[in-house]
Amino acid sequence: MRAAVLDDDHHFRVETVDDPVPGPGDLVLEVTACGICGSDLKAHDHMPPGIVMGHEFSGRVVAVGTEVEGWREGQLAASMPLQACGRCRWCLRGEVAHCETVDLIGVGGRAGGFAELVRVDPATTFAVPDSLGELSALTEPLSVGLHTVALARIEPGERVLVIGGGSVGAAVTLWARRFGAREVVVSDPVAHRRDSADVFGATGVHDPGEGPLPTGFDVVIECVGLPGMIEAAIGAVGTLGRIVVAGVCIHPDPITPVNAVLKELTMRFAVYYRRQEFELVAAALASGTIDPAPFVTGTVDLDGVDGAFAHLLSTTVERKILVVPGA
Ligand SMILES: [Zn+2]
Ligand SMILES: [Zn+2]
Repeated sequence: MRAAVLDDDHHFRVETVDDPVPGPGDLVLEVTACGICGSDLKAHDHMPPGIVMGHEFSGRVVAVGTEVEGWREGQLAASMPLQACGRCRWCLRGEVAHCETVDLIGVGGRAGGFAELVRVDPATTFAVPDSLGELSALTEPLSVGLHTVALARIEPGERVLVIGGGSVGAAVTLWARRFGAREVVVSDPVAHRRDSADVFGATGVHDPGEGPLPTGFDVVIECVGLPGMIEAAIGAVGTLGRIVVAGVCIHPDPITPVNAVLKELTMRFAVYYRRQEFELVAAALASGTIDPAPFVTGTVDLDGVDGAFAHLLSTTVERKILVVPGA
């Protein structure tokens, strides 16, 4: 198969590599589309050469392992980008991303979706209707948003602040409204993101260049991942408020705890999603309950992956770019 393989200089070069061979318990998907994630942009410089990245994929079943039941060739499926054991205490709770032996697909472990074919686990793969097409790849990033919002335990009528209006922030905004938030304010320095925030359900926007964050929110969700954002969230949340941190900050980030203590606030950190959340998103997309189209601003083929990374690193006007290997 053809795949966009990371080379020694951290660029993506299209090469012919071995097709994945399905074990008795596996499925192989022909990749329909695979989104480029903000975390891919951050991580690809640190990944070992020779790997195939891509974790936001969907595809059509082209091989069914001999022990797999309930799947047939030709079905379109959205798949969680991980292989979990299915037996440990975390798997039994649906927390498969925390499986004791998890293999994360497309982020340094097993080969991912910037390729024509990908091997997946049927236990964490869900059928979606053909009509979804390439947009079925949005199941993964929308699941990140759902999990983040679920951890915030938003009650109907609450006021929510979303710090960061990129793809994660947009998905969080969508789900926060679905959970009944009366007000969802999105803070982002990029005018394009503020201007389009209402498409995802935002009721208001804030420009950090114009002044400090508004305050008194029941829930603040941090989707940026840069130093200073957690302290800003502590300042913006109200008494007994909740903060959920989805931003992946790789630097030390000091806070002043007294500001959190005096509000008796609760802070949680979010990563990935539960199996049942991914399944719920696949069902919501299948039924048309949520519209993934506004999340996507472009598509490229495998040969375009390297250029798409360079483009995304140089601009703030794009949202999700989908890699379509068959294009
Ligand atoms: Zn991602
Ligand atoms: Zn497990």
